[in-house]
Amino acid sequence: MREQIIQLLRDEVDWAGPYLLLQEQAISRPAQQVTQGSEEHELEEIVSAITGCTSCPLSRTRKNIVPGEGNPHALIMFVGEAPGAVEDETGRPFVGPAGNLLTDIIEKGMGIKRQEVYIANILKCRPPGNRDPQPDEITMCIGFLKAQIEAVNPKVIVALGRIAAHALLNDSTPISKLRGTFREFQGILTMPTYHPSYLLQNPSKKRDVWEDIKKVMEALGIPLQR
Ligand code: SF4
Repeated sequence: MREQIIQLLRDEVDWAGPYLLLQEQAISRPAQQVTQGSEEHELEEIVSAITGCTSCPLSRTRKNIVPGEGNPHALIMFVGEAPGAVEDETGRPFVGPAGNLLTDIIEKGMGIKRQEVYIANILKCRPPGNRDPQPDEITMCIGFLKAQIEAVNPKVIVALGRIAAHALLNDSTPISKLRGTFREFQGILTMPTYHPSYLLQNPSKKRDVWEDIKKVMEALGIPLQR
């Protein structure tokens, strides 16, 4: 399975343009084969495929790969752009200052435990100095995220920030205009919103994110807390 996924990624890089995605049938499972625990198994296989990946130059500068983490049966998936310094040190997504803010949004805002959602990034390795991911790096890496999304099959994806929104939606409209309106990624409702790092620099934008998150909660049937 690990070799299969890596080969699929390489095959698609040969012919696809930027922001390639794996074909549906490449990794999806027939509905009749879905059994308890199959998501866990699929995710384990994907993480195994990610671990040790050297497909792009970021493999030479990373300390740890950050595959993603969370509930294999999550109804909501948060997708950021790439690991930062703390994530690179720990191998876990969104555990630095921006991660703490995301955790607050999930737990204090939405009223659910962080462990109940799934969190991942477009890139699994940190770009040096936290620079923006390059298009060719996204092309090489996004197939892993696509595989994770297929395995988890959430009802809603929240695309955190410009890079994640542009990569998932294949739309370069500024995030300030994209945010707040549901789009679809492979048939899954996808809400673009600001990245928590941006909120740390621009706290006044928290209000916009909260409006976006309320729409996500409504779509998932999560009642607003008092
Ligand atoms: S960023 Fe993605 S494609 Fe590049 S080495 Fe890391 S896992 Fe592989």
